[in-house]
Amino acid sequence: MIDTINRNTLRYHVSHALFCPLCNTVLDVRSAVSVDLMKNGELKKTSIMCARCYDARAERLNTLAGQFGATIETLDGRTLYPRKKR
Ligand SMILES: [Zn+2]
Repeated sequence: MIDTINRNTLRYHVSHALFCPLCNTVLDVRSAVSVDLMKNGELKKTSIMCARCYDARAERLNTLAGQFGATIETLDGRTLYPRKKR
């Protein structure tokens, strides 16, 4: 159930953004990552980006969030839509 909600939430964000705001490639829900900035249990900001941009920034995002007493929560299309084994 929670995976269904998470997949639909990620799909919603991808459908609104369409393009990765960092590299301008078309977003694919299977390889997009939504990044929620959480502080004191409240959602402060949600960003959507492609997996490549996320992977290049994940460590820095977590470090920056930690400096402000916040945390990062992600929905990663690569884990929500696993590739089928053949
Ligand atoms: Zn990107």
